[in-house]
Amino acid sequence: MAYQLLRFALASRHPETRMFRTPDRLGETYDVVVIGAGGHGLAAAYYLARDHGVRKVAVLDRGYIGGGNTGRNTTIIRSNYLTPEGVAFYDQSVSLWQDLAQDFDLNLFYSTRGHYTLAHTDSAVRTMRWRAEVNKHLGVRSELVGPEEVKRACPRIDLDCGGHAPILGALFHAPGAIARHDAVAWGYGRGASQRGVEIHQQTEVTGIDVEAGRVKGVHTTRGYVSTRKVLCAVAGFTPRVTHMVGIRTPIYVHPLQAMVSEPMKPWLDPILVSGSLHVYVSQSARGELVMGASLDPYEVQSTRSTLDFTEGLAAHMLDMFPFLSHVRVNRQWAGMADMTPDFAPVMGKTPVEGFYLDAGWGTWGFKATPVCGKTMSYTVATDRTHELIRAFSLSRFERYELTGEKGAASVGH
Ligand SMILES: Cc1cc2nc3c(=O)[nH]c(=O)nc-3n(C[C@H](O)[C@H](O)[C@H](O)COP(=O)(O)OP(=O)(O)OC[C@H]3O[C@@H](n4cnc5c(N)ncnc54)[C@H](O)[C@@H]3O)c2cc1C
Repeated sequence: MAYQLLRFALASRHPETRMFRTPDRLGETYDVVVIGAGGHGLAAAYYLARDHGVRKVAVLDRGYIGGGNTGRNTTIIRSNYLTPEGVAFYDQSVSLWQDLAQDFDLNLFYSTRGHYTLAHTDSAVRTMRWRAEVNKHLGVRSELVGPEEVKRACPRIDLDCGGHAPILGALFHAPGAIARHDAVAWGYGRGASQRGVEIHQQTEVTGIDVEAGRVKGVHTTRGYVSTRKVLCAVAGFTPRVTHMVGIRTPIYVHPLQAMVSEPMKPWLDPILVSGSLHVYVSQSARGELVMGASLDPYEVQSTRSTLDFTEGLAAHMLDMFPFLSHVRVNRQWAGMADMTPDFAPVMGKTPVEGFYLDAGWGTWGFKATPVCGKTMSYTVATDRTHELIRAFSLSRFERYELTGEKGAASVGH
């Protein structure tokens, strides 16, 4: 075995990768160039080919597929947002998730757990009630529950949280789920590739040509490509790419960290989130506790992990679950979150003709992967804004018509 591995490693030719084709050369022209082979870029390419018959599509990535935030996130999927526009959008995504594994013929380990957003203050209870009412009005299963229901769903929790942040209630959202993030990128990548889309890894876009207000082509580290349509789906790199076409956005980039514990016997079924304690947690199929918090408090483009984060998060975990004091942290990591002032995404057309944005996904974009693919592919293929993303246009910031999701997206993911 060891000998075979060594021979494989030293061989100059390797068998074709299993999940998608790797074209030898970058073409000279494409109908659409997608920048970013994360879940969003790949999903858009998949639906462009599958639903709109646009197959001359190249997805370019400076690294490897799923190597950005798609492969770094904590995979919480939910639709219990605050604004009617947000709820309708994410609810459509949760519906699409249900058929995705079958579409791809790939196990995504989609696991519906139920999602509790804990309230430790009267004002948090009020926000949870507000969200529950908006959700119910739009047919999304959410309700305000008392501390006894939290204890029933999670018997190991200390409802007093160390005495300084007692749990007064929670927003319970039955459809809350988790899934395997890499598999989502692979599924969309394989599906797109099977339909003729080219995926070019290690291909960074370094410039975009715009003439008379419209896109002409992109410069890459592997040569020039001419195209009339570019979709930018680069998460924490958005300001660098929008700078290439001279567009200003209110997006700012903060690191977002997460960590996992060593594997344990299953004891935590639901997903728990506490905005006041800045912590959320779920238990993975492997038994690891997958934990995160809010953004790092400084604007910087970095994926460095910090001890500050580990200490803060561990302390808040112990407020809720003192029995974990001997459990070890296995690893931690970070991604770059592209934040917007109203905690809602920026999607659709831009002032540059042929340049489309799928950005501002901050800490909450994994769950939206399928619906982003659907709505962005429609918008790119038809050059008409999809109804579900109207509220997320870039121009809302000029009009001061924000889509305020902070009450549902700050630590909740
Ligand atoms: C720690 C953490 C936890 C999170 N938890 C959750 C969660 O629980 N639930 C949730 O819904 N969301 C969560 N998110 C947010 C979610 O991960 C992102 O919003 C989502 O993955 C964005 O997907 P994407 O495809 O747009 O971006 P990415 O997956 O980041 O893909 C963008 C790609 O663009 C490429 N790229 C950048 N610049 C260029 C260039 N110039 N040329 C070519 N390629 C380029 C990058 O290499 C990258 O692969 C979390 C994020 C982090 C960091």
